Amino acid sequence: MTVDRAAAPHPAFLTVLSGPSGVGKGSVYARVRQRYPDVWLSVSVTTRTPRPGEVDGRHYHFVDRAEFDRMVAAGQLLEWAEYAGHCYGTPRGPVEQRLAAGLPALLEIDLQGARQVRAAMPGARLVFLAPPSWDELVRRLVGRGTEDEQTIQRRLRLAREELAAEPEFDVTIVNHSIDQAADELVALLDPAASATHRA
Ligand code: 5GP
Repeated sequence: MTVDRAAAPHPAFLTVLSGPSGVGKGSVYARVRQRYPDVWLSVSVTTRTPRPGEVDGRHYHFVDRAEFDRMVAAGQLLEWAEYAGHCYGTPRGPVEQRLAAGLPALLEIDLQGARQVRAAMPGARLVFLAPPSWDELVRRLVGRGTEDEQTIQRRLRLAREELAAEPEFDVTIVNHSIDQAADELVALLDPAASATHRA
């Protein structure tokens, strides 16, 4: 189900997918990458270490803190945030090149980053990926099995705060399944297609 709070389709070419930790943003983004190779996805920079299966330059650009700080100081990040003890940011150049060419771009970032994009680019469309329920979100966060207990607890606290931010977003997609959410997200990138997906 897609809920669109905007009165009319945005002319925006920049679409930002955000939502609480564990809701499945990364999985939905990965599904878009798989199923829609024509959709351009930003590759973030992060200081966290790769998870099994993650490829440098494809899922993230993995850098150390010194390199991340250098990029921030050089103004090379469109937005950045510290999340659960690590730094994440969107390389500015590739996104600006897409937008300058009149081509759409899709980002997958946390709430702090989404707010920065909103402030810097008011025309961007912010998409909130919501869990079907809080219990389901907890199940997904704990079930991922890649984080230790302390990290899970920290992410649950953040997720509670992040859920309350939903009204700041233009559109909500409920993540009932990865395929359904990925399809709804891609439909939103095309305003004509999105009209048929609005609830
Ligand atoms: P993970 O470590 O699970 O891949 O990502 C942790 C969080 O960082 C997620 O909420 C994800 O959306 C967010 N994130 C990933 N890339 C970026 C980015 O470039 N900027 C910001 N602000 N958050 C990001």
